[in-house]
Amino acid sequence: MPPTERLYYQDSHLIEFEARVIANSERVSGWTAVTLDRTAFYPTGGGQPSDTGTLNGLRVVECIDDEADVVLHVIQGRAPEVGTIVKGRIDWLRRLDHMQQHTGQHIFSQAFVKLFNAPTRSFRVLDEACEIDVDLDNPTSETIERAVELANNVIWENRAITISQVSSQEASGLPLRKESARAGDLRLIEIEGFDLTPCGGTHAYQTGEVGMIAVRSWERAKGLARIEFVAGLRALADYRRANQSARAVAGVFSAALSDTPELASRMIEENKQLHRRVRALEEIAARVEAEELLAQAATTPDNVRIVNKVFDNRDSESLKQLALSLIAHPATIALLGSRDKDAARLVFARSVDVPGDMNVLIRDACVMLDGRGGGKPDLAQGGGKNLDKLSEAIEMAAKRL
Ligand SMILES: [Zn+2]
Repeated sequence: MPPTERLYYQDSHLIEFEARVIANSERVSGWTAVTLDRTAFYPTGGGQPSDTGTLNGLRVVECIDDEADVVLHVIQGRAPEVGTIVKGRIDWLRRLDHMQQHTGQHIFSQAFVKLFNAPTRSFRVLDEACEIDVDLDNPTSETIERAVELANNVIWENRAITISQVSSQEASGLPLRKESARAGDLRLIEIEGFDLTPCGGTHAYQTGEVGMIAVRSWERAKGLARIEFVAGLRALADYRRANQSARAVAGVFSAALSDTPELASRMIEENKQLHRRVRALEEIAARVEAEELLAQAATTPDNVRIVNKVFDNRDSESLKQLALSLIAHPATIALLGSRDKDAARLVFARSVDVPGDMNVLIRDACVMLDGRGGGKPDLAQGGGKNLDKLSEAIEMAAKRL
């Protein structure tokens, strides 16, 4: 089969075309791969997803480059007959989006070369953003923003982007940004006075079409700077989302957008202080509560006071605090439980002058609760998810004392 003529090589803005069906082969469950003599559809490759669109009104969901330099158009429905002429149509907004991200990447990558002599190792167009891995020494937000600024200046200078075809020998004498993986003639993409790169993708006519580039975030990954950026339509969509959530946060504080970072961090700091204060007050409250519980506690023939009680909505920290306050008194055993949201919690403890292994008792009690527990002979804690058995588990432990 002859290679497919790629119309997007000549014109990245061509969205309607006619072509002859060369072959079609049914794949699985109604999906058919159609081969044409020529196409304006860009197939998945080079980190960029394929175009979508229609062939004679049938939906083209993906295009794939097969090994023999042939583009396969994946459609669902009755495939057009071999030999017929079909009308193809590309989804323009998707093409424009991909062209903005891809051309934006040429510009952004060259900005890192110009400023820091830092080459790009890989590039991916993701659902909402794009990613490039740049071999940049000591990346910081400031150095990355310098590249963003240079890239945007090149965009707003609206430089021409031209395509030329050269032999690999001619190419070897040219200042290319990266080597080509292809043998034979090379397709070079030149951004006037800025960048020269071999590439088979779809590019804007002029840099202005990219609109703008913005960085969302970056991190160090495998010795490279992995930078998440957005260009063109995506930058606008990203701005809208970011602005919406920033305004929602500002609304909660009834404050200006620019004041919210400080207000939020102040609130978190206050919350931490409140937590510490609540814990301190709980310690005091637990001492008073322990006195009251001991006054009503049952006493064994050996004069040991046993406090067994189930609480509601008490976390394990608070339960432990109460147990510690109880066993600060001599001859005391505490068997405490709590229904804490959807979990059952247990704390068993004894004062130093009483015999008994709380670790053994709590393990068996937690088995009844379908959970686990453990600790030391004088203090052990645990829990489980069977809330119905909580009282029974404590009764059982009390009997075994
Ligand atoms: Zn390209």
